[in-house]
Amino acid sequence: MSKIVSSLKFGVDYYPEHWPRSRWSKDAELMGELGFNIVRLAEFSWSKIEPKEGEYNFEWLDEAINVLANRGIKAIIGTPTAAPPPWIIKKHPDILRVDPHGVRSPEGTRRNYCPNNPNYIMHTKRIVKALALHYRDNPNVIGWQIDNEFGIDPCYCENCIKAFRDWLKNKYGSLENLNSSCGFIFWSQEYGDWDEIFPPRPPIDMQNPSLCLDWHRFLSDSWVKYQQIQVDIIREIAPHHIITHNFMGLYKELNYFKLAEPLDIVSFDYYPRWGSDIDYARAAMAHDVMRSLKKKPYWIMELQSGAVKVHTAPIPKPGEIRLWTLQSIARGADGILYFRWRSCRFGAEEYWHGILDHDGAPRRRFYEIKKISEDLKKIEPHIEGTNVKPEFAFTLSYDNLWAFDLEVGYGGKNYYGLDSWEPSLDFYRVLYSRNLPVDFVDPSKEDLSNYRAVFVPSLMLINKTIEENLKFYVEKGGILIATPRTGAKDWNNVIVDMALPGTLSDLFGITVEEYTGLPDGEKVGIETDKNVLNRKIAGKGRCWAEMLQPKEGAETIAYYTTGIYTGKPAATINNYGKGLAIYVGSFPDENLYSAILDWLMEKVDIKPAFPPASGLEAVERVGSSGRIIFALNHSEHAIQIPLKKEYYEIISGEKVSGILKIESLDAKVLKPSN
Ligand SMILES: [Zn+2]
Repeated sequence: MSKIVSSLKFGVDYYPEHWPRSRWSKDAELMGELGFNIVRLAEFSWSKIEPKEGEYNFEWLDEAINVLANRGIKAIIGTPTAAPPPWIIKKHPDILRVDPHGVRSPEGTRRNYCPNNPNYIMHTKRIVKALALHYRDNPNVIGWQIDNEFGIDPCYCENCIKAFRDWLKNKYGSLENLNSSCGFIFWSQEYGDWDEIFPPRPPIDMQNPSLCLDWHRFLSDSWVKYQQIQVDIIREIAPHHIITHNFMGLYKELNYFKLAEPLDIVSFDYYPRWGSDIDYARAAMAHDVMRSLKKKPYWIMELQSGAVKVHTAPIPKPGEIRLWTLQSIARGADGILYFRWRSCRFGAEEYWHGILDHDGAPRRRFYEIKKISEDLKKIEPHIEGTNVKPEFAFTLSYDNLWAFDLEVGYGGKNYYGLDSWEPSLDFYRVLYSRNLPVDFVDPSKEDLSNYRAVFVPSLMLINKTIEENLKFYVEKGGILIATPRTGAKDWNNVIVDMALPGTLSDLFGITVEEYTGLPDGEKVGIETDKNVLNRKIAGKGRCWAEMLQPKEGAETIAYYTTGIYTGKPAATINNYGKGLAIYVGSFPDENLYSAILDWLMEKVDIKPAFPPASGLEAVERVGSSGRIIFALNHSEHAIQIPLKKEYYEIISGEKVSGILKIESLDAKVLKPSN
């Protein structure tokens, strides 16, 4: 029997209902061989659990849980609400979502229901309650995954329209307040009755930006509320069980902070290989966001273990599943479940491959995971009680991401020519290449004082709480770095009636005198001032340029060298209280961000776990078990790292000093020798 580990969960997503019972014990035996201690079960099995209304059939699931328990494997049960069974749709066709053109979502698939539909909510409560009552005392069930991969899935049905009107009533109180706060005087859209309000329908560039943002907020809140219905039932019936949901990394259409709040653990569905190249900086940022939602270790609920169902998506290369596993643990995961045990012979995901192929025979990927299991047994004692502890934070406001993406110019393209993650990703890539992890913080809730520097990526929407939080942080000695449009709008998505950056003008010590969009591909030259940043670096800004006017006390740290603002300030620094506030008036390239980061690292004396090397991802976990550094080589070539001290390499059990060599697609896990 495999060892049940207390801290590290290691397992797989398993669908016993797809296979004959005669196979289940063989599956459990093979899972035992891999050292698995957990499976996720049943999250798409409503038609099997309740084939007819009120006729429950738990017998098959009880048996599957038993068969697995005999090998020391515990279960997380997924509530099956992501895929309503046909009998519900036949009885209540109104549960299907309605698109902006009034067409209902298709039957026969998943994620096709409306979260505000009273009939679906009634059936949701029934099935969740029945499951929770049946499994609360089963010692082999440890918790629940709510639904599966919530997405924005907009619905324009009568229930949603009514609920949206109520949501607006609750927010604005009166029609007068709504009309003036959102500027409905524009194009004669002032409302005289709540029933005159409809959700904005595409094309979005012809709609009111405030209403568009509120509609997005309402949809996000609808899913948070729908999740809460299930959380409340399970908490009441099975308070000793853990509750999670499987999030999707940099998916940004739901407010993930709000979705994570009532859960015990955040889980992440991590599928790195969709094509020939993998953007590991972007992947690392997704992990950092997942860890940041609750500022504690998370799980990977679905980790890619075979090729995904995408045209030409290749199978994971030898070594990659192991690297992705170690990368996840390095960035703060304490649970790894692979998707999925065995590739299914039927259904929409027939080519979404698992550890085993359709024939169920163990092959290369199975044996790779067996090797991972052996590695993890050695690593596990060293990660208990540890987490990634970044010195840098990025503000993350989902309201702001939505508002940024809703700034659509005529023609349907984003006004800035950027996806709303890009201002974050540009700087993140530079930090990633230096092996510096990042926490993402909600500026409207979280204390920033734990961080040496906070990056504010184009935080357009500002309210009083955020304004005070940012100012308090800098006043007490923090360093803030912001990019264009920060402070440009109020919380209702209306442009402020002040010189930009609005209420943050005194914090940054500037006004934005003029701004211009840069047409596709056009860039402006920017050069840093040697006297301020201690280095003269030439770089470029893209998409947008602001001419800054420093106030008294603020200094220019970079000037435009080309374009209509040549010779004018492109970036500034201001002393505010005990801290410093930097404002950059364009979207900088790697050179400029490197110049700022070099200056910053000297200023606050930050040293990364390891020096940069092409293909290297090095992350440190710190805690009661000490420090442990994961050094991963994602490249096709070996990496050599000069070591300043001696380390103990946990997987090989050897001491290393001098030069650390990491082969292609291999990893080292190191502890400093005492
Ligand atoms: Zn609806």
